[in-house]
Amino acid sequence: MKIGCPKEVKNHEYRVGLIPAAVHAYVAAGHEVFIQKGAGLGSGITDDEYVAVGAKILDTADEVWNVADMIVKVKEPLPEEYDRMKEGQLIYTYFHFAADEELTKACMEKKIIALAYETVTEANGSLPLLKPMSEIAGRMSVLMGAYYLAKPYGGEGLLPTGVPGVAPANVTIIGGGTVGTNAAKVAAGLGCKVTILDINPDRLEYLETIMPANVFPVYSDKVNLEKALQEADITVGAVLIPGAKAPKLIKKDHLKMMKPGSVIVDVAIDQGGCTETSKATTHSDPIYVVDGVIHYCVANMPGAYARTASFALNNYTIRYGLPLANKGVEAACKESPALLKGLNMYKGKVTCKAVAEAWGLPY
Ligand code: NAD
Repeated sequence: MKIGCPKEVKNHEYRVGLIPAAVHAYVAAGHEVFIQKGAGLGSGITDDEYVAVGAKILDTADEVWNVADMIVKVKEPLPEEYDRMKEGQLIYTYFHFAADEELTKACMEKKIIALAYETVTEANGSLPLLKPMSEIAGRMSVLMGAYYLAKPYGGEGLLPTGVPGVAPANVTIIGGGTVGTNAAKVAAGLGCKVTILDINPDRLEYLETIMPANVFPVYSDKVNLEKALQEADITVGAVLIPGAKAPKLIKKDHLKMMKPGSVIVDVAIDQGGCTETSKATTHSDPIYVVDGVIHYCVANMPGAYARTASFALNNYTIRYGLPLANKGVEAACKESPALLKGLNMYKGKVTCKAVAEAWGLPY
């Protein structure tokens, strides 16, 4: 199969669909890989590194899209890429169709095959191609909170680690899934006192067994949540109800009981955020202040650490991408229920119920 990896075109998107190790795996399996010139530079990967593992470098995105049977990307195709898509072409990337009607219609018209990272689902319900990005956003959330606690940014002026004789910060994490667990690890490593709230008792029990002594898993009810918000110097919003908008657990009134200069990092912002006063921000303008509380609500946090994100993503995408390339999408999806869940569109037909429901399309 001819596999193509164009350079990402989204604003401030530095990740890349294929890293050299993935190229090597595809080439070793007998495929040809075409990389757009400079596609990896944002992630610190040179064209020479791709050539060394057998890739061919093409000058333009048009050439890559034109030659490829299978495109491997990170972000959904943008309008400037719609005309490059070819009938029957397999596109393996994040799509998030339910949030973008124009993209859904464009992909249907072009009759592409859309294998969406975000809906590849294992039998236990886990989403393996979303997980690496949650791990990065979770670890990053506490670092961002720590940074904006500094006085020049309007923060409390509190060093999260503390120093001998001065206590460290209190970190409150709402939601103990992938983001929350990774946030807790980093906060605990900094020496903070960490409270992690969840409504799933099994999850709380698990966290209790794996977390160090400065992490306190607590059931998320109104009383516990308000106490944890009052104490918090950094609050991380990490809840998820799959497929739904995030519940607004931090109300506007709560801000008045929180410490002035404390920081809310609302990681759940891509699902609308779990704070009433959250609105999506960007890496170039990441924070704003409401009632004295700093809000950090960047919707594509992992893009900032593109190198780590590209490598982490590829560790997982190669596992599902290789069978797609080796067997073809039809046979691969027949053999793997996880991959079949990722099939959102097949040559003009929507094959994912949630996407069809979102836009009133036949399924
Ligand atoms: P997850 O499913 O692993 O964890 C979510 C947790 O929230 C679960 O443990 C669940 O029990 C808990 N929860 C649900 N309702 C709750 C409530 N009312 N109170 C307390 N806990 C509750 O999800 P995840 O992978 O950790 O992702 C969390 C959020 O972060 C998602 O919205 C995800 O899309 C988002 N995310 C954002 C970025 C970004 O760049 N902003 C990056 C990655 C992930």
